[in-house]
Amino acid sequence: MDLKITNVTLPDRKGNWHVAIANGYIREVSVEPIFTKTDQTLDAQGKLLIPGLVDPHIHLDKALLLERYPAVEGTFSEAMQKTLQAKQEYTLSDIQSRASKIIEKAIAFGTTSMRTHVEVDPILQLKSFEALLPLKEKYAWGITLQLAVFAQEGITNQPGTIDLLRQAMAMGGDAIGSAPYIDPDPAANIRLVFDIAQEFDCDVDFHLDFLDDDSPLLLPIVIESTLKHNWHNRVCLGHMTKLAGLTTAALTAFIPQLKEAGIAILALPATDLYMMARNDTHNVRRGVAPIDRLAESGVKVGLATNNVQNLFTPFGDGDVLKICTLLAQVLQLGTTDSHRLCLEMATSKAAEAIGISDYGIAVGKVADLVLLDANSVSEAIAIAPIGRITIKRGSIVAQSKSSLNLKGNIKS
Ligand SMILES: [Zn+2]
Repeated sequence: MDLKITNVTLPDRKGNWHVAIANGYIREVSVEPIFTKTDQTLDAQGKLLIPGLVDPHIHLDKALLLERYPAVEGTFSEAMQKTLQAKQEYTLSDIQSRASKIIEKAIAFGTTSMRTHVEVDPILQLKSFEALLPLKEKYAWGITLQLAVFAQEGITNQPGTIDLLRQAMAMGGDAIGSAPYIDPDPAANIRLVFDIAQEFDCDVDFHLDFLDDDSPLLLPIVIESTLKHNWHNRVCLGHMTKLAGLTTAALTAFIPQLKEAGIAILALPATDLYMMARNDTHNVRRGVAPIDRLAESGVKVGLATNNVQNLFTPFGDGDVLKICTLLAQVLQLGTTDSHRLCLEMATSKAAEAIGISDYGIAVGKVADLVLLDANSVSEAIAIAPIGRITIKRGSIVAQSKSSLNLKGNIKS
């Protein structure tokens, strides 16, 4: 045995538990003491052990741009325009350096799997993809990184994009996606993405039904395409802010189709709260997809960080647990059960949304785990504790505690 973690609290079970790990897999989960000898023993002293955090939607290539391109107006159009300018100035090492900072922080926060969107278009060509591809292997010791090849600027309006998307997929993309609302022909955009998904037998990941304008929902087109292509359980949709504006009846009407297609809906509250309802002068809408209600009806859901310190989201540090806290506040999730649901949205449900299997705290699962300096799920959601120990495939890969040590700097 490699590692034994004794005296843990688990999110979904009562009592004091012990977990044993060998060769990267969980071998025992028991209330009885585990006497098997292990190389390492970690006494958790009753703290909360959860499956590794999963961030199912982030943009590593445009993270940490805010200092270089500060917001002047703070609007969506400024964010689009300045990020376009930033893209023209990216270098390979610049992308890698910003992405590495976020990945290293994420590992320390306990994120053991992550899907990053990687922009591929005629401006950037394959630069972002070439920068991020080697990081998959470089950081495999601490995190499983999925690369979703992403057409941010549209497809039908950007000649050459379709070939570049194919090239990136051939180089090792894990999923294909786009932002159809940017494209003058959203239906064609969706169709082209499904064509590539079929060609490369990969998952689909759209930025969909974002913004709060009067344009029609694109969700019906995606549902129809998913069913037509038999792409059940392989489609993930980020933002979906327009769902927040639907009546209960209109939202409920989508539920059977979403369940049949196995489509996952991801809320990205840090961005959505910041970007939505800019024209509201009072009773400002929140624009966060009601994923709690969808989850209760059996729809696959998750939450994610999306952007970190750029013009689309001038906040955040890449910690998906802090996004749990934010989502709980925005969707008014205060009960113990709803806190558990919230944590699942950044762990087991997020994993399911991006096709990660062998996941969870059970015998035979991969030992991707985080020990949190919290005594319960509700406390973890309340404080997103600084103290964390990250375990990737059975090895302790990071240990975080408060690092501000000013001893001796305060003179009296
Ligand atoms: Zn995004």
